[in-house]
Amino acid sequence: MWPDVASLSNPLAVTRRLRQRAFQALGGILLNGDARSLHRADGHWRVDADEGHVDSENVVVALGPWSTDVLEPLGIKVPLGIKRGYHRHYHAKGNAALSRPIIDTEYGYALTPMEQGIRLTTGAEFAGARRRTDAGAVRPAAAATRARAVSAWARPNEPKPWLGRRAETCRNSLPVLGRAPGARRGCGSPSATATGG
Ligand SMILES: Cc1cc2nc3c(=O)[nH]c(=O)nc-3n(C[C@H](O)[C@H](O)[C@H](O)COP(=O)(O)OP(=O)(O)OC[C@H]3O[C@@H](n4cnc5c(N)ncnc54)[C@H](O)[C@@H]3O)c2cc1C
Repeated sequence: MWPDVASLSNPLAVTRRLRQRAFQALGGILLNGDARSLHRADGHWRVDADEGHVDSENVVVALGPWSTDVLEPLGIKVPLGIKRGYHRHYHAKGNAALSRPIIDTEYGYALTPMEQGIRLTTGAEFAGARRRTDAGAVRPAAAATRARAVSAWARPNEPKPWLGRRAETCRNSLPVLGRAPGARRGCGSPSATATGG
């Protein structure tokens, strides 16, 4: 237990609020489209959005574990793996309550109070993007068994656990940030960007 830990009961709501009150309030425009449509056209980067195509001098690829879907066709190799994790929400029985996150380091699970209920989060696994998701579904079940106290005071309020993916760089887990190899600010030529360095 970390006495001074900070925890959000609804991170999605925070993200949406930031989008409205910060990004859009400052003039940011949100468009939907498939980032894999990124290509060079008329000397610019172009991506197809539902509202039409958008051209830009520079592009930031921030697709988490899906970043390689866009980078690899451009010839940019990033040593990116995928780490998967699971969580499931529970309703407390009777007057049981959880007022703060706790982590069981021995068995590798966390319990966190969320708007959806008490979230049981299990450890991570390394798995390819296309590996069957049910292969890992035993993890939450195993963790729930380990969290013996949980079944005594809580019951699942969802039929199955949620599975999430996050990017993981091979070998050292360090983030990959910065300009693509060969790209120059404001005028990266397609050949330079595509060949990498
Ligand atoms: C199980 C799990 C638990 C986690 N717990 C925590 C935690 O407690 N605290 C914490 O700080 N972090 C946690 N993380 C990590 C956190 O989720 C990530 O670090 C964070 O979401 C990364 O943000 P991102 O914007 O880089 O990528 P992401 O949040 O992965 O966003 C990438 C986006 O790209 C979109 N996308 C993919 N392909 C395309 C395409 N072709 N076209 C358009 N859009 C596309 C996806 O839909 C997604 O919205 C957890 C991750 C997992 C998987």
